[in-house]
Amino acid sequence: MKQIFETKSVKRKATRTPGGKLVYNYRKKKVKTATCSNCKAKLGGIPRLRQFEINKLPKTKKRPERPYSGVLCAKCLEEAIKEKLATTTKVEKDGSN
Ligand SMILES: [Zn+2]
Repeated sequence: MKQIFETKSVKRKATRTPGGKLVYNYRKKKVKTATCSNCKAKLGGIPRLRQFEINKLPKTKKRPERPYSGVLCAKCLEEAIKEKLATTTKVEKDGSN
């Protein structure tokens, strides 16, 4: 399929047809893998598709089913929850004393 915009960001490859013509084959744009916002680790369970293709997917196939999925990796989430618990329990203890 021919792209509408012939810009540098649209990659193309010159190929020769059986008839001897030189034509350009346009390549699909590659999408970067989703990364953790804290440690920049690659996130699993998130499709490496372009936005219009992601829009066609059901919600359960867009990201894992847990809090902060698609933002934090599992390790960072675990640490964040532990930190949050530690701070909240401290506050409660201070309040009772
Ligand atoms: Zn992380």
